[in-house]
Amino acid sequence: MATSGAVKFGLPFSGRRYIYILAVAVLAFLISGCHSLKDRGDYWVDDTHRALGAEPRIQFLVFHYTAEDFPSSLNILTGENVSAHYLVDTDPDIQSGKAIVLQLVPENMRAWHAGASFWRGRINLNDTSVGVEIVNQGPSKVNGVSHWQPFTDNQIALVIALSRDIIERNQIAAINVVGHSDISPGRKIDPGPLFPWKKLADAGIGAWPDSPTVERYLAKRQLHSAVDVKQLQNNLNRYGYQVSDSGVMDNQTRTVIKAFQMHFRPANYSGEADAETLAILDALLEKYKS
Ligand SMILES: [Zn+2]
Repeated sequence: MATSGAVKFGLPFSGRRYIYILAVAVLAFLISGCHSLKDRGDYWVDDTHRALGAEPRIQFLVFHYTAEDFPSSLNILTGENVSAHYLVDTDPDIQSGKAIVLQLVPENMRAWHAGASFWRGRINLNDTSVGVEIVNQGPSKVNGVSHWQPFTDNQIALVIALSRDIIERNQIAAINVVGHSDISPGRKIDPGPLFPWKKLADAGIGAWPDSPTVERYLAKRQLHSAVDVKQLQNNLNRYGYQVSDSGVMDNQTRTVIKAFQMHFRPANYSGEADAETLAILDALLEKYKS
């Protein structure tokens, strides 16, 4: 005749067994619950006490163009001298309806894409950024005039999907989504004036000024009134650029203005501190730095 365990072995033994299981469970809770112990093989880690003085290691997203075709880009970026976390081809391969991006370096490793760089007080952005290289030839001169190669729609669609994911996972601030030319002005001009920053901002990627705010600042400013160069340098620096507050409209300042214009007013990146440029900068500061 079949009998239950409790009937077969008697209630006292079964009760002891349950008390033993309960004691083990309480002990496991005390060890793992109270002290958050994590098993690392030969030792435990207790991460109960969390410091306030900490920040995410990845804080910036940097866009580049490769200035090469795809085979050369891949060859150079998988060599020993330069690298980037991701490479976006001109016409990315598609699988099951989704575009494929090449990952050349894991995000938790440092890639060598930024070089000497500065943004918002931080230098050597290779340490703290994810780098995205986009296959594009950059400018070519025809009869002394620069012609820029446009980015393709498929390429930009993949850049948007990829960036959205990187930004979300790493909680990157809009103001920290930058071009190589922003962080190394004068030394670098990529991703160039045809990079669709506005389109990316409309898709929730990176910073962009609100038109009504730009109009409001523009209306307050006399078109040909003298520029307070020191104030302009301070504002550029406050936004993120590296520029000295000499008060003199020197080559460094013009180069930084040009980088700013390539990003936020690409129709004219002459480097001249015109009223619209100043209004765009004011609008950006109001939106992101107030
Ligand atoms: Zn670059």
